[in-house]
Amino acid sequence: MAPLVKPALRRSWRDLNTVQFGMTPAHALTLGPMDTATGSFLDLLNGTRGLELLREEGRRMGLPDGHVDGLVRRLARAGLLDDAKGGGPAAEALRRKKEVLDRLRPDLASLSLTTSEPGEATARLAARRSLRVQVRGAGRVGAMVASLLSGAGVGDVDVRDVGRVEPWDVAPGGLPAEAVGERRDEAARRTARRFAPDRPPRHGPRSPHGEDGAGHSLVIIAPRDDVAVHAPSPSAAEPLIASGTPHLYAGVVEGTGVVGPLVLPGETSCAGCLSEGRTDRDPAWPRLVAQWRSGAARTREVRPCDLALATTVAGLAAAHALAFLDGRVPSSAGARWEVSLPGLSWHARPVWAHPACPCGAARKGEGEHPSEDEESHATMGEQRPSKEIRRKADAERLAGTWRAHV
Ligand SMILES: [Zn+2]
Repeated sequence: MAPLVKPALRRSWRDLNTVQFGMTPAHALTLGPMDTATGSFLDLLNGTRGLELLREEGRRMGLPDGHVDGLVRRLARAGLLDDAKGGGPAAEALRRKKEVLDRLRPDLASLSLTTSEPGEATARLAARRSLRVQVRGAGRVGAMVASLLSGAGVGDVDVRDVGRVEPWDVAPGGLPAEAVGERRDEAARRTARRFAPDRPPRHGPRSPHGEDGAGHSLVIIAPRDDVAVHAPSPSAAEPLIASGTPHLYAGVVEGTGVVGPLVLPGETSCAGCLSEGRTDRDPAWPRLVAQWRSGAARTREVRPCDLALATTVAGLAAAHALAFLDGRVPSSAGARWEVSLPGLSWHARPVWAHPACPCGAARKGEGEHPSEDEESHATMGEQRPSKEIRRKADAERLAGTWRAHV
């Protein structure tokens, strides 16, 4: 092990014997009491020395026996310690690809804030490369989500859509102007690959259908059609529910951007639950949706989609997707985040699991908020839940001399 105090957290002294790690309430911690000698010893925990060498340095600085090990243990327990050599073989392989890692360094530093085990951040970043994500819809939002996920190190980003790139599909980070007239799905795949920090991994056999999402860690549904954004079709998501494929909705409708819900089939609310809930509140809802859908089928008008709003939606959707792919349950599970022009205040509207929906989330949830459901996460395929670890670390923080506030 080559311990290092997570460099992502800026270090400062609140007073003569209290160190603060980090600046923001979300991730900052304070540690005290800490004497000056131990405080300056922290500088040596920078990933260049193994434990043996650190103990030697400790002796030279006159620190008592066992002090160094105790400090390393406490830092690790608080989630403040990383390991410059840890994370397993995939992490080691990533470290050897310096150019790839250099592209992802800010992402790695960011991951170190949300992971607690030494070496875990590099392991998670390396794991993104073996993930397969499908983006359905390659308009302004979808093409950009695909590029963002690819740029963040997700190894296999597939894009599905029909038709050819129109001039109004073009967006920075999304489809380029040169792609106008090309097949939309191919152009979006190629654009996403262009942002990848590494060559694509070798493909295993692909699912022959693709409609049920099988084999994908996540499917992102980003329709160009505004009716499909506002009123996502439960029947279109049925194959995803049946195959147990997690999926996330995102898009722009009129002047409103939408991210969510993230559907963990059978665990959290889905498009069917959303539709049932809306019909409960407004009996006219199905009649309105039917008219919007038939209107959409008849007209070929360009729909409103503010460029900056689309970019915002794509960014937030990609962030929720990455949080999930990295093993967390983001706040879009069981909710839709919405933002409207011109005020642009984000708010979350809960999407409750509905007892009449065949997805079964209502029976599972029993009224509990889905993101609190530990089990939901553990059953999500390849996701490696570290919530248990995290929770343990949190408990230990509270029990020790650590205070989680700034
Ligand atoms: Zn449902």
